[in-house]
Amino acid sequence: MKHDILIVGGGVSGTALLYTLSKYTNVKNIGLIEKYSDFGLVNSASTMNSQTLHFGDIETNYTIEKARKVKRSADMVMKYLINEKFKDCKCNYFIKVPKMVLAVGKDQVDTLRERYKSFSQLFPNLRMIDREEIGSIEPRVLEGRDPNQEILALVTEDGYTVDFGRLSHCFVDHAKEANPDISFYLNTKVNKIIKNSDGFKVITSNGEFEANAIVIAAGSHSLKIAKSLGYGMNYSILSMSGSFYTGPKVLNGKVYTMQNAKLPFAAIHGDPEVHNENITRFGPTAKPIFLLERYNYSTFWEYWKTFGLGLKPIVSILNILFDRVIFYYIIKNGIYDIPSIGKRSFLKEIKKIVPNIKIDEISFAKGVGGTRPQMINNATRKLEMGEAKIVGDKIIFNITPSPGASTCLGNAFEDTKILMGFLDNRFKFNSEQFEKDLVL
Ligand SMILES: Cc1cc2nc3c(=O)[nH]c(=O)nc-3n(C[C@H](O)[C@H](O)[C@H](O)COP(=O)(O)OP(=O)(O)OC[C@H]3O[C@@H](n4cnc5c(N)ncnc54)[C@H](O)[C@@H]3O)c2cc1C
Repeated sequence: MKHDILIVGGGVSGTALLYTLSKYTNVKNIGLIEKYSDFGLVNSASTMNSQTLHFGDIETNYTIEKARKVKRSADMVMKYLINEKFKDCKCNYFIKVPKMVLAVGKDQVDTLRERYKSFSQLFPNLRMIDREEIGSIEPRVLEGRDPNQEILALVTEDGYTVDFGRLSHCFVDHAKEANPDISFYLNTKVNKIIKNSDGFKVITSNGEFEANAIVIAAGSHSLKIAKSLGYGMNYSILSMSGSFYTGPKVLNGKVYTMQNAKLPFAAIHGDPEVHNENITRFGPTAKPIFLLERYNYSTFWEYWKTFGLGLKPIVSILNILFDRVIFYYIIKNGIYDIPSIGKRSFLKEIKKIVPNIKIDEISFAKGVGGTRPQMINNATRKLEMGEAKIVGDKIIFNITPSPGASTCLGNAFEDTKILMGFLDNRFKFNSEQFEKDLVL
């Protein structure tokens, strides 16, 4: 079977692209290959990530340029969620809660105050609030806190907690409505892709397929497949697993802490669980693992294959670890996953948000939290911030650490434009309609 476009990966990235192609282009002959029996079961599953639609307003490690880019994409998801909520109750899989970033101590307060000057222009709904108002929105943030401790917060009502796994399903349902001809290949693992003069041959666990153009939206595996075709050879992956602790309802919305700008991970935060607001989740931690997919030990060798066994990635990783901020961060986070002492030391982090929380109120959330493929650039020997897109000859590879779920539609928009070129502009992308529907 030959498809005009084949998508590999049925997480929120692959399904957002499927939706965009189906609703906003006239390409009909599309296939989607997913190795598991359903969509959104890996990093996009609600148990695997922090469920936050990141806009860049309360993520203090984002520059204003990064925030502007993430906001455009997150606005698309927000508009999709709101539009579909009123059309179709099945798509009601998100909650809207207040969200804030909390600065504790003089240094953090000064930094946040300074940041507000530029960020309030990009995010007009963001307000700077003092101790009293923080306490009225989140009483437990003040209870038990030293009254002399300086605190300040930026708050907005636009906090979205999203089940990105269910969002993947919703994208699939709406894609099928727009294009009933899509072919789905579940339980089908891509083992090898061969480029030939006529396009691509895709060898899977369920037979062979052909395609004129391909998008690999397979999370960490995208880099593995890219390297097998000679692309992205200068990159390695630092696979940063994230774990969570849970407790009773102690917060009404999302409360983020300040993040060091050097770190490409979301700061530790507490927020209500999307399907049960009586549970508060704290996390994520960040610990390197040698797997491309968390809890899937068969991906151990795949990890090393993707990392690369030469000198360059080893020099890069040493260079990254020699940075004191990153080194201590990784050591500290490694401890959080160790039974008993991990809980005690993570409690100190949680107490920065909820000072009077007790140790027996929290427990380690077993089996919760996926892994983020952080890109290591072996040319610069540095960790890169956010997602990576490698564009090859009629093939695109998307590697998606956080906030990859928030940027799924933004990515899909970019990929769709590139795909039209790959297919010699034989098809039309109605980007004006996409922007009318999904861009603010
Ligand atoms: C701890 C943690 C917290 C996070 N928090 C947030 C957050 O709050 N907000 C946010 O926006 N993002 C967050 N992220 C990131 C977010 O979860 C991911 O960026 C997003 O889910 C990526 O979606 P995806 O579709 O690209 O990848 P995935 O959801 O991992 O999907 C990839 C799919 O490809 C399939 N696949 C892989 N290899 C093959 C193959 N060979 N053949 C066929 N199929 C294959 C897999 O089975 C999978 O279904 C977080 C991630 C982690 C780990």
